[in-house]
Amino acid sequence: MKQSIGIDGPAGAGKSTVAKRVAAILGIPYLDTGAMYRAFAVAAKRHGVDFLDEETLAKLVHEVDVQVRYEDGVQHMLVDGEDVTGELRTEEISQGASLVSRVPAVRDRMTELQREVAHEQRVIMDGRDICTNVLPDTPYKFFVTASAEERANRRYKQLLESGQEADYDTILHDIIRRDKQDSERAYKPLYCGADTKLIDTTDMTIEEAVEAILSEV
Ligand code: C5P
Repeated sequence: MKQSIGIDGPAGAGKSTVAKRVAAILGIPYLDTGAMYRAFAVAAKRHGVDFLDEETLAKLVHEVDVQVRYEDGVQHMLVDGEDVTGELRTEEISQGASLVSRVPAVRDRMTELQREVAHEQRVIMDGRDICTNVLPDTPYKFFVTASAEERANRRYKQLLESGQEADYDTILHDIIRRDKQDSERAYKPLYCGADTKLIDTTDMTIEEAVEAILSEV
């Protein structure tokens, strides 16, 4: 196995922005594993399966084909051959992904797919259990975080800048709820392992966070 780079951390900490820059500098692919859980949540919704119905979700994960494909260097998610990339970023699917990711069979299947990608090439991937579960043997493990208020503030500004409506308190509430779900789930929760380098971006620029990773790898 080539030595891939793992980044974990809570929602909205800037993991993907940092990971994409590091990937571009090192010339390696970036895998957004959250998009895989989101794609499976889209599949569950289409099959009319409730995000809380663990038994049916555990069966469904072996019936649908979730695939990652790169087009011009951009990650696309396919569900049974159909590109669902445009459907992944709604609040319903964010919450749905967080709920379906609690199911052990769903996590095990996604872990398998993620390891297949890392087996073929050196990659940088971000998620919630990359350092603790997917790539435990890589020496390059990072936990990128920021305070919930700072993460909500960044998301709020991002929405306003893209011309969308935004309510800071709702965003903060959604972030705190997802943090709790992700770090308190029974199976493979989000946490920073002892061998993982903590990068708190609350008072850091993106460039500083990128540099903190590059200096280690
Ligand atoms: O990273 P993103 O916010 O897109 O992830 C959506 C949800 O998928 C997370 O809230 C988390 O519950 C789940 N997830 C996970 N393990 C990963 C990546 C994402 O449980 N490796």
